[in-house]
Amino acid sequence: MDAFLNSIIKSSTCDGGVRDIALKVAEGGRISTDEALALYQKAPLGLLGMLAFAVKESKTDRKVFFNRNFHIEPTNVCVNNCRFCSYKKPKGDAQAWELSLDEILHQVKRYKDSRATECHIVGGVHPDRDIDYYCNLIREVKNIIPALW
Ligand code: SF4
Repeated sequence: MDAFLNSIIKSSTCDGGVRDIALKVAEGGRISTDEALALYQKAPLGLLGMLAFAVKESKTDRKVFFNRNFHIEPTNVCVNNCRFCSYKKPKGDAQAWELSLDEILHQVKRYKDSRATECHIVGGVHPDRDIDYYCNLIREVKNIIPALW
């Protein structure tokens, strides 16, 4: 284990149980769901970041990874009303948009011969589009570019 991380954990003011879990992580051990929850709820954010970095470094060293993606925004119509959001519009609003399935797939086809590895789909939570709609959408997208994530 990294001596610096070890000393940070041992001098941490968080409770002993959390310190033990943090030491387990730092030593490369697996933790249970309950232990992960305890870390999430009780460990200082800085310590969590250091643990996350230690695990990342143990798996992939200093290498960084990226993908090539493109974005599809099917709609800005949303049933929610998050306070920070300036994106959502109510159904029927003059600035609302709703792409049809064909319009979405038309956008996907533009990337068919690209080196894209991900189709990033993001947008509002449309009141009329359920899980079946999105499962079908993903199926159709992958029919066009099977290698996409
Ligand atoms: S679009 Fe996303 S962020 Fe905006 S209100 Fe809807 S759920 Fe919230």
